[in-house]
Amino acid sequence: MRDIDRAVRQLPRETGPAAWNALLPEAKPRAQLNENRRADWVVIGAGFTGLSAARRLAELHTADDIVVLDALGVAEGAAGRNSGFMIDLPHVLTSGDYSSNEGNDRFDTRLNRAGIEYAMSAKHEFGMSDEAIALTGKINGAVTARGVANNDHYAALLTTLNEPFERYDSSAMRQITGTNSYVDGLFNPGTAMIQPAMFIRDYARAIESQGVRLYERSAVTQTTRSGRHWVVKTAQGSVECANVILAVNGHLESFGYYARQLMHIVTYGSMTQNLTPDQLIRLGGRARWALTPADPLGTTVRRISGTGGDRLIIRNRVTFNPTMTASDAQLQSAARAHDRSFKDRFPMLNDVRMEYRWGGRLCLSRNDVSVFGELEPGLFAACCQNGLGTAKGTISGKLIAELASGLDGHLIDDLKHAPEPTRLPPNLIARIGVGTVLRWGEWRAGNEL
Ligand SMILES: Cc1cc2nc3c(=O)[nH]c(=O)nc-3n(C[C@H](O)[C@H](O)[C@H](O)COP(=O)(O)OP(=O)(O)OC[C@H]3O[C@@H](n4cnc5c(N)ncnc54)[C@H](O)[C@@H]3O)c2cc1C
Repeated sequence: MRDIDRAVRQLPRETGPAAWNALLPEAKPRAQLNENRRADWVVIGAGFTGLSAARRLAELHTADDIVVLDALGVAEGAAGRNSGFMIDLPHVLTSGDYSSNEGNDRFDTRLNRAGIEYAMSAKHEFGMSDEAIALTGKINGAVTARGVANNDHYAALLTTLNEPFERYDSSAMRQITGTNSYVDGLFNPGTAMIQPAMFIRDYARAIESQGVRLYERSAVTQTTRSGRHWVVKTAQGSVECANVILAVNGHLESFGYYARQLMHIVTYGSMTQNLTPDQLIRLGGRARWALTPADPLGTTVRRISGTGGDRLIIRNRVTFNPTMTASDAQLQSAARAHDRSFKDRFPMLNDVRMEYRWGGRLCLSRNDVSVFGELEPGLFAACCQNGLGTAKGTISGKLIAELASGLDGHLIDDLKHAPEPTRLPPNLIARIGVGTVLRWGEWRAGNEL
């Protein structure tokens, strides 16, 4: 076995606050790794993938020492920045209509459902609330005739896949959302909706109660292997272990793997202030609903009611950021787009201000595949969740722990034998090419944005 000594090229840097986490009571900070210690397993990354991997390892190896390291606090990364849709059905962001081909769509659905099932089993096992996670379904909302055509197309796909759905007309959409903007909706019952920061914080605490040791603000800066042992280093400590699981999504590239095969995308969110009783009357509709856009590059909208009050959340705009960091100008430009989308949909709320604005990272591959498997002896990875990491990360974390434990199964086999992410063109060309495709897609989405 050859020796390895790799410095991590880049550490996570976030844009704006993790709004979902900011709604919750302040969390007691966990320890940083500040000693040289040993463990049986080290999981790098405490998002959906890393925590699911750690949970599964703890289930399979009750006597083992399992350490999880994250560069940030729990729920401060993408896990506390996403829109909270754990979607079961095909949701391919790089396609014009969310679908790939029938074989991939069926495989994706099986995989996503297994992820939702594992997350729901955590809810029951660890006593999480309905606010943290509930199987409520979601609606693809259409604002324009083009959006309705997209919903028609998606309905035809679901019929082929033998998946249940319901269509809503404009009046049903108004009763749900309180706004006249939506002319059509396509309801899918199988999506679980999460308060992502609440879910991930509850998940982390539950896994710690199973004996897993989680260190926050402990960025891994170097990985080395000599003989059979890995040493994972942070600024102030290290862990020597036999097995490492990388659950860092796009930061896999920072660890020296899959250079120029992963697309680093940033997408943006804005969350309103807690709506006043008067604003809630003007809004009307239900207290909780969740809309994905009929066009993949349109606007996601959620209405929430719970910890942190009653709020609306807007997500749109995607930028290609090979450096994995968005600029202030990009955040401000997204904020302007959010304000336009909000004003178009909720003209009755012209006095509502946005309390939080943020960006967060997605990792996509051109051919919509993830990275799953043993990259070096004793070093495993489950990364590149293609924008759907709440469900896909949960299942691929569980499965990578099983693979690393010598287990097998249909889903593991299919993931292991999936193609690799296809290569991207050289940086400048990729920047221009991907940027142009995204801008064109957003232009085509028109008022769905
Ligand atoms: C605005 C927005 C909306 C989204 N909406 C949805 C949605 O509705 N549904 C959905 O499924 N997905 C959504 N996503 C995507 C989703 O958040 C990601 O796919 C998901 O978080 C990936 O999970 P993960 O555990 O693989 O990676 P992450 O959640 O990114 O976790 C990886 C962890 O690794 C840590 N890490 C990285 N490098 C190091 C290092 N050197 N040392 C230690 N730790 C390190 C990071 O700090 C991070 O906490 C959205 C994302 C954004 C930004």
